[in-house]
Amino acid sequence: MVNNLIEEAEKVLFKTYKRYQIILDKGEGVYLYDINGKKYLDFSAGIGVYALGYANIKFNNALKQQIDKLLHTSNYYYNLPSINAAKKITKVSGMDRVFFTNSGTEAVEGAIKLARRYYYDKYNIANSEIISMNSSFHGRSMGALSVTGTKKYREPFEPLIGGVKFANFNDIESVKSLINKKTAAIILEPIQGEGGIYPADKDFINEVKKICVESDILLIFDEIQCGMGRTGEYFAYQYYNVKPDVLTVAKALGCGVPVGAFLASEKVAGYLVPGDHGTTYGGNPFVTEAVNKVIEIYEEDEILKKVKEVSGYLFEKLEEVKSKHDIIVDHRGIGLMQGLEFSIPVGPIINKAIENGLILIAAGTNVIRFLPPLIIKKEEIDDMINILIKSLK
Ligand SMILES: *Cc1c(COP(=O)(O)O)cnc(C)c1O
Repeated sequence: MVNNLIEEAEKVLFKTYKRYQIILDKGEGVYLYDINGKKYLDFSAGIGVYALGYANIKFNNALKQQIDKLLHTSNYYYNLPSINAAKKITKVSGMDRVFFTNSGTEAVEGAIKLARRYYYDKYNIANSEIISMNSSFHGRSMGALSVTGTKKYREPFEPLIGGVKFANFNDIESVKSLINKKTAAIILEPIQGEGGIYPADKDFINEVKKICVESDILLIFDEIQCGMGRTGEYFAYQYYNVKPDVLTVAKALGCGVPVGAFLASEKVAGYLVPGDHGTTYGGNPFVTEAVNKVIEIYEEDEILKKVKEVSGYLFEKLEEVKSKHDIIVDHRGIGLMQGLEFSIPVGPIINKAIENGLILIAAGTNVIRFLPPLIIKKEEIDDMINILIKSLK
């Protein structure tokens, strides 16, 4: 049955993904089930989305109630869930204002527009420049793609937006060499996700911040993957103790409900005025009720504390695996965002793991990244390690 369904799917879906050969049906806690009832321990959480795990009762009940009240209003009116969500997300992020989007890509898109607008208003000239990082990932729309540091993703779609330059991540001299009077913003992921789980060096982040302050350049942190508790802080910038001017969020923000956001300090946010930016769905009462509930549950269930408690354990266990397998060449990461780099492509290992009941995902060709739901427990980490070792044989 599964094969037939997959065959049917392949006839009608765009061929943009090489999917693993399973059809997922439901989830509970840190486990997923396929349509045959096979159980999988999930260390990908839908690419770092399902932070609270599957079928969280408090979360699901709040959404069910909101469905019966109101899904959508447009942004011409206020609604209570979005007011509350805006208060909560600005509070936990330490930013002053938020614009809700429908995805991570759109959050990056908004951040780029904000940077351009800021520069344009201040200097009254267009053609400003943005510095991004090699091997970064910021999304697939034309704007977000323009600042994505993987040439293979960009090239087939050029010309993209102009004025984007790429520096080497963790190489401050390379950043400095690209700065000039037209530089409006520097965008980076404090921990590169898709690029292979590369945390920024503390010195690098501090130096970038210093340059931004000195030259009045906006610092944009894309925390779509590394934010919302992954590091044990709400945002990785709080871990690094270096505050950006603009922050993008998505993935875990709605725990499965599609919602993103870009946030900014008061000084910067004010540059977008009526008519500059908009969205029909963005921040509707359904998705913002999800945001409300996510943050409420983070507080009630002390999610950040839990991440801090288990992430050291995951680190130790992965170190152990690395020390016993020569094909593993590096182990990197912070909190519950860790990666193992192999000397070989990891596709076959991941296939084997899935066969053995463990869902893992790659980052690039040679890295397996570990992005479990943030409610993961030590025993479940042990189970993961056992299946991983078995799959490496
Ligand atoms: C996933 C991701 C995006 C894109 O988010 P979408 O919701 O897929 O549009 C952008 N930046 C980073 C760092 C991401 O991990």
